[in-house]
Order: sequence, then structure tokens, then C-alpha cells
Amino acid sequence: MALAHNLGFPRIGRDRELKKALEAHWKGELDEAGLLRVGRELRAAHWQLQQDAGIELLPVGDFAWYDQVLTHSLTFGVIPQRFHRHGAKPGLDTLFDMARGASQNSCCGAAHAQELTKWFDSNYHYLVPEFTADQQFALSWEQLFEEVAEGQALGHNLKPVLIGPLTYLWLGKCKGGEFDRLELLERLLPVYGEILQRLAAQGIDWVQIDEPILALDLPQAWKNAFERAYNILQREPGRKLIATYFAGLEDNLGLAAGLPVDGLHIDLVRAPEQFPAILDRLPAYKVLSLGVVNGRNVWRTDLDKALEVLREAHGRLGSRLWLAPSCSLLHSPVDLTREDRLDSELQSWLAFAVQKCREVAVLAAALNDPQAAEVQAALTESRAVQASRAASARIHKPAVQARLAAITAADSQRQSPFATRIELQRARLQLPPFPTTTIGSFPQTAAIRQARQAFKAGTLSAAAYTEAMHDEIRHAVSIQEQLGLDVLVHGEAERNDMVEYFAEQLDGYAFTRFGWVQSYGSRCVKPALIVGDLSRPHAMTVDWIRYAQGCTSKLMKGMLTGPVTMLLWSFPRDDISREQQARQLALAIRDEVLDLERAGIKVIQIDEAAFREGLPLRQAHWQDYLAWASEAFRLCASGVRDETQIHTHMCYSEFNEVIESIAAMDADVITIETSRSDMQLLEAFERFDYPNEIGPGVYDIHSPRVPDTGEMVRLLQRAARHVPAERLWVNPDCGLKTRGWAETEAALVNMVAAARQLRAEL
Ligand code: GLN
Ligand code: ZN
Repeated sequence: MALAHNLGFPRIGRDRELKKALEAHWKGELDEAGLLRVGRELRAAHWQLQQDAGIELLPVGDFAWYDQVLTHSLTFGVIPQRFHRHGAKPGLDTLFDMARGASQNSCCGAAHAQELTKWFDSNYHYLVPEFTADQQFALSWEQLFEEVAEGQALGHNLKPVLIGPLTYLWLGKCKGGEFDRLELLERLLPVYGEILQRLAAQGIDWVQIDEPILALDLPQAWKNAFERAYNILQREPGRKLIATYFAGLEDNLGLAAGLPVDGLHIDLVRAPEQFPAILDRLPAYKVLSLGVVNGRNVWRTDLDKALEVLREAHGRLGSRLWLAPSCSLLHSPVDLTREDRLDSELQSWLAFAVQKCREVAVLAAALNDPQAAEVQAALTESRAVQASRAASARIHKPAVQARLAAITAADSQRQSPFATRIELQRARLQLPPFPTTTIGSFPQTAAIRQARQAFKAGTLSAAAYTEAMHDEIRHAVSIQEQLGLDVLVHGEAERNDMVEYFAEQLDGYAFTRFGWVQSYGSRCVKPALIVGDLSRPHAMTVDWIRYAQGCTSKLMKGMLTGPVTMLLWSFPRDDISREQQARQLALAIRDEVLDLERAGIKVIQIDEAAFREGLPLRQAHWQDYLAWASEAFRLCASGVRDETQIHTHMCYSEFNEVIESIAAMDADVITIETSRSDMQLLEAFERFDYPNEIGPGVYDIHSPRVPDTGEMVRLLQRAARHVPAERLWVNPDCGLKTRGWAETEAALVNMVAAARQLRAEL
């Protein structure tokens, strides 16, 4: 019998109950007992949902108050000194201090939060463990064992989920001087031993140990450490399933298959080619768990297609075959039945976490009891869904496809090389040296958000809303004029979000009401869905930008989101490649670029904030991604005349390995986040002899701190050591929408003064 299990369930709740409870607790409106009760209720509800869906072995330990890596840090006693509370045992308040920082008035003075960073290639963020060279580990928190007891009391068959020791060490960073994190392994393993013993004493049979780093390019020392670690852990009680996901094991396949544990999970959605290769490497005693239901997207599984692989696997493995989603369902929205406004056709194409559990169970049933009526019904339904998607006029649009087919190489090439363009642009734009600009957004005030909500709710008329936004634009323009900025922006007041704003206006996108996915802590995102071929039915930004340009005789920059970022921050289609979707987006945005140009806009910025984070986990796949991603950008940007200046913007990025592709995008100006790196990020541009203009951010927009002019002058002087001064722009690190007006104005006054000082020194 093949077994249906799950690697993890979203913890946030189908109505974001956890978010609401956490925020109420932080505001002092919900006490700890109340918060604990919400957690208990959510866990109970989620186990029940999974069990009702037919999952036989339920994850426990996938719940986290803020983040699962942070849970492990607390459990292992990896609590930096600054969060120690005198004498007190670490608890929930310690955990929240580590996540959010502790303020001045707590017992131990101010302590800044731990760093947040992206969980592999997802949009989930974890709290980076901080290790010291003399790091000690000790079992310090009982949450896991309590949850196990809680689930057992409810009668569930549970499989605790742990992040494996190597992945945990890999994800952390060294504090107080560099050292090799691997040296901590021997000290860390006894804690895992203790946990496994405690779980066994609770009657636990299987434990899932997540080692997703097995899907990365690993240094040899780390590979070796895997064998060492699991040779030690195999002596501990309990059967162990190593879970890998997000990419293929590739060169680590033999290593992963051979580890002395009882089972291995692999992701066949991201890396289908791992099957059947894995069968030849898997020892005969081992369970193989196949992830065939996509945990990272919202589309229903093609059951027939999944069964092709599963039948073969079942024939070879019998009851040693387990089925699961490809990865934890943490990355999926919770429950499709919560959606009350989707049309029935679209609804029939989708599966969220609850529905994905059902798919896993049905696939197991299809192997164990192929003739069962529920299996037959599910297969019939799955075929109908696939047929409806394959034929739907809502998905397949001949006009878009014809346009795509007609793309020529010339379409993604500016008319003249940069050297020619920049002369024409300089003559036309008449900018001073060290031109100043901003990245696009100005403070999104409460008034702006209220106006947008009222407009969406229908309580504010379109005319009144437009007027309110025009007021904001005039305000932003007049401040920029007073500040003496050279290239102005309209301020993006009308935008809720840099992707959603455009997605809502493109044909081919759809939106859910409750499709929330946790991003970090209590924060969730609700990505738009790319459903069908994409096109732009009408201009999206032209009226706003034209209005803004009408308010000033200075240059007004048009502001767009680029194709790669649109794609990466949406749920993409699974029936055509990401590359094709990026091209469709590129053509749609290209139309907007050309409309802006026709409206007299001379500078157009196309943001690619997500460009670098789209890099595949394995370096061997980078070139392929970079080639289509930079081509999509060029396709979107290259329709304009030489004298129209194209800007792009990227958030904090390590550019070293990708500089060639950044250059291949051929933006006339790139603005990047650099202030926190002390301009070190420019070294990559210098080494590569990056030819185009660059605006390295001169101040950090994440903090309300207002840097003084001298500081920015110093950063610019430093920048000028890497990039010729005549190619430098002066701007903040990123958009200012999260800042208040007072600090924004104060910082920009200093920034303009810094640019003037540098001009005077030329
Ligand atoms: N233009 C956008 C803004 O200013 C860019 C945001 C981003 O890079 N994340 O808000
Ligand atoms: Zn940015």
C-alpha cells in the first residue's frame, strides 16, 4: 500500500487567524494564553483538514509562531546574548524579541532583531541563526513535544518535522569573526539525538528531517559531513525520512540515496528527471517519497500524468512508496473553498493546500485500489479539468501567440549602441553631472490607502479618487521641485503593489480573495495568478504620468514593473514555460513603454526588483535563466527611440556572478541598492567595465534614520573610485513608500546637497 503523507501545512490559517492573533498579541490586546489557544485551535483544525482529505501521516512541528528556523534556534538554545533575559527560561517573548527586536524598556536594553532572508528560491523569509565560534547547543524549548502530545491526544498519527542539522547550520551565519560553521556539527548532533529520543519516548515512529540543501551545489566538506552526521544519528531511535525539495539532487543523488536513514523524499515537480534514476540508487530497504503535487503553485494536478510515474514506482517499490506534495504546503494558499467570488471555471482549475492533500490521497488510492469509485470519479474530473484548460479561449489567445511568433531578434535590440544613445540622451535631457532622482514611490500615507480602499469598495467615486490621487501627485511634484531633484517621479500613490497594480490591468491575470501565503512572521502576500496568455488591453499608467508631467517643466520619469518581476511575484502558469510567460509580459509592457514615449515622456524606468532572486538554486541552470530573463527585459525596453532613456532598478543584489547579464539588459541607467554595502557592490561593475550609467543608492530606505550630506558625499566619492563620475547618478536605495514624509524630505535635502557638493568639486 502506498502511503499518503504531508511535509507541512500552512500555519497562517484560512482567515489568517494566526496573523491576527500575533498582531493583537504584539499590540497588547491578546495575552499569551489567548495566543496559545489560537495556535492550538489552528493546529487542531489543520490536522483535521488534512486527515479528512485522506492524509495518513500528519506533520507536526510545521507550525511556528513566527518562522520554523527561528523555532529551531530557540529549541537548540541558539539565542544570541542580546536576547537573554536574566534568569528566565527562553519562551515566546524571547522568540518574538529575536524576530522583531527588543525595545529599550525591556529588561535587557535594546536588541536588534535577527536578520531575515529568503528561504531558498521562495518568497518565504526565515530568521538567520547567529552562531559564535564557541556556540553551545542545548535543548531549550519544549514546544515540539507539547505539540506532539497535543496531536496524539486528538488521536492523530503524527510525523514530527525537523530541519536537518546540516541545513540548519548552512542557513545560519557566523558572528564575532569568521569560522567554519561545520565545526559546530559535532556539538549540535547530541541535541538532535536528545530530540529523537524524546520523540521515541512519546511513541513516535517516523521523523521527517528536512535537508533541502541537498538540492544545492554543496562544497565537498558539506557533502562529507552528511555521511558523518547521519552515521551518528542512525544510532538514535525512530525511523527517519530525509526530505529534499525545490530542485533536483543531481550530483548529490547518490549521497542522499545512500544516507543511513529509512526514507528519502524527492521533488518530482521541480525535477521530474530524478525519476526513474533514483530507483537505481535507492537501497532496497528504503522508503521513497515522491513529491508529485506542486506545493509551490495553485493549479490542480494532472492525475493521469502523475500516475504514469507513480504506477511504475509502485510496481517497483510497493509499500515502500509514499506520496506527498513536492514540498511543504507552507507555500500554498490554504483552502480553495474559502474563495467565494471566483467563477466556477477558474475555481475548477485550482487546488490550494487542503485540495492538494486530497490530491495526494487520491493518487495513493489510485495505486492501492484503482477500481474504487472515488478514484474513478477523481480521474474523470481531473481529465475534464485538463481538457477544459487545454481548450479554453480564456487561456489560449491566438492574437498573443501570433505576436509572440512574430518576434524577431531586432525587437530586443535598441536601435543604436549605448555610446550613441547616451550622446543623444544627454543632448536632449540636459542633466547636470551627478543627476538626482528617486526610485519611484513616495510615502504611502494612511490617507492614500483609505482613498484606495474606499474607491475599491465603491464608496468613493472614480472622479473623486482620481482627484485625490492628482492631489498626491501635485504634492509629490511640488516637493521634488522644491528639493531641486533633476528627474522627478509621480510617486506611485495609485499603486497598491508594484506587481498587482499592473496585473489588475492586464488581460490573462486573475485574483483570489483569500489566497494568502506567509511571507514572514505575520506578513502574508496574495500573489496574482497568471491564468492565460497575457496582453494589455489599454494603457495602464499614461494618464497618471501625463498628469504628473503637466505639473512640472522638469523631467518626469515614467514608472513600470518589468516582465521578470511580474512573473516571479505571481503564481505562474504550469502549462507553458516561464520563459514564454516572460515574453508575453514583455510585449504587454512594451506597449506601455511605447505609449509613454508617445505621450512625450523622455525617461522611463522599468523595475526589475526580483531579477536576481529568480536565479535557479543550481548554478548549472543560471545561464538559461539569465538568457531569457535579460532578453525579456530587452524585448520590453527596446521599442523606443535612441533618445528615450530607459532606466531599470534592482533591489539589494550581489551582482558578481550575473554582471554580464545585467549588462546584456542594456538599460541606459541602472539604479541599485548599495548603501549598506558601502558601495562594495560596485566592484562587480568595475571589474566588468560595465559601460552604462549607474545610480548606486546613497542611503538606506529601510530605516527612518536621516543620513547627513557628508555621509552621502563620502559614499559617492567611494562610488567614483569604481565607476567614472560622469556615469554616476544620485538616488536612494529603493522606493520610499514605507517612509514618512518628514524623514523623506530631510534625507532628500541632504542627498541633493551631496550631489551639488560633488558637482562643485568636478
Ligand atoms: N518603483 C518601485 C518603488 O519605488 C520600486 C520598488 C522596489 O524596487 N521594490 O516603490
Ligand atoms: Zn528596490
